[in-house]
Amino acid sequence: SSKIRLTSRPEGKPTPEDFSIDQVAHGELEPGQVRVSNEFISVDPYMRGRMNAGRSYVKPYGLGETITGGAVGRVVQSAADDLPEGTAVLHQHGWTDAVQDDASTFQAVPELDGLPLSLYLGLLGMPGLTAYVGLTRVAELRPGDSLFVSGAAGAVGTAVGQIARQLGAARLIGSAGSAEKVSLLKDKYGFDVALNYRDAPIREQLVRALEHEGVDVFYDNVGGDHLEAALEVMNDFGRLALCGAISSYNATERPAGPDNMGNMVTRRLRMQGFIVAEVASEHPEVTEEFRERMTGWLSAGDVTAEETVVEGLEHTVDAFVDMMRGGNTGKMVVRVG
Ligand code: NDP
Repeated sequence: SSKIRLTSRPEGKPTPEDFSIDQVAHGELEPGQVRVSNEFISVDPYMRGRMNAGRSYVKPYGLGETITGGAVGRVVQSAADDLPEGTAVLHQHGWTDAVQDDASTFQAVPELDGLPLSLYLGLLGMPGLTAYVGLTRVAELRPGDSLFVSGAAGAVGTAVGQIARQLGAARLIGSAGSAEKVSLLKDKYGFDVALNYRDAPIREQLVRALEHEGVDVFYDNVGGDHLEAALEVMNDFGRLALCGAISSYNATERPAGPDNMGNMVTRRLRMQGFIVAEVASEHPEVTEEFRERMTGWLSAGDVTAEETVVEGLEHTVDAFVDMMRGGNTGKMVVRVG
C-alpha cells in the first residue's frame, strides 16, 4: 500500500514538496489484527496546525510520520473475531490506501442505506458533531434565535446551518468565499442572508444586510475580520462560539485583532472557544444524542450531506491545499482504492 508522510514543515501554504508518498509492504496478519482497505480519507483544517512544530491542542506530526486522521474503509482480511471481513470501519490511520493494525484501533460503523461511507467523515462524523456541540452545548442556541455562521459553505458550516434550522433558529446568516457558494446557501440551504466576503469587507456587508436586526448567536469558523464583523451586530446577551480561525492557519504574520472588543462589555456577550472532543467528553450523552438525531434528520430528508470528492490517494495533498483556500463545498474527502 501507499502512505503519505510529512517530509518538511510548511512555511505558510503547504506545497507538494512538503510531503512524500511511499510504498509499504504488509506482513502476515498477527492474531487480533485486521487489514483495512480505505474507501475515503479526510483532509481537515486542524491538520495544518499539526504540520507546525509549535504547541497546539493535538501534538505535531513528526517529520517522516504518516499524516494521521479520519478515514473509512472495509476489513478485507481479519484475524480478529469482532471485526469480520467486510465490516465497515472508521479509524484514525490517515492518509493511506490500506492499513493493517490491531482491531482495537478501528471502530465498526453501521452501513448507510444507499449513502456513501464518506458521511462518517462529514455530516455523521467529526465535523457534524462539531457543529452540533457548538450549537447545543457552547452557544446554547434557542428556538427563535438569529444565527450568523462564518465559513458557512464548508463541512462544519453546512452542518451548522442545517442543524440550526432543525433546532428552530429563526434567521440564518452565512458568509463564504464565492458567488456559487452564496447561491448554494440561499437556494439549497435556505439562508436568509448569504454574503461573499471577497466582494467587500465583511463587516460593512453584514451591517448593511442586517439593517439593525442583530444576531443572537455567532458560530465562527474563520476568525479575524469575521469575528470583528460579528461583534458589530451581536444582540445583547448574545453568544459567540469560536470553533476555528482558518483565516490565520496559513498566515505567516499575526493578523490584527478585532477593534470592537468593547462590545463584549456593553452588550454583555459571552464568547467561548471549544474543541469538539473535549465538549463531547464533558457531555457524555452528546455523541449518541447527535448520532440519533442526525441519522433521523438524514433519513427524513431534513438534512443533506454536501461533499466535494477528489479521486485518488496521489491527489490527497492537492485536495488538502485546495480545501484550505476554499476549493471545496461541504466536506472535502478523497476517494481511494
Ligand atoms: P471547511 O470545509 O470549512 O474548509 C475550509 C474553508 O475555509 C474553505 O472551504 C474556505 O471557504 C474557508 N477559508 C479559507 N481561508 C479563508 C479566509 N481567509 N477567510 C474566510 N474563509 C476562509 O473546513 P471544516 O468545516 O472542516 O472546518 C471549518 C472550521 O472549523 C476550521 O476553522 C476548523 O479548524 C474548525 N474546526 C474546529 C473543530 C473544533 O473542535 N474546534 C473541529 C473541526 C473543525 P471559502 O470559500 O468560504 O473561503
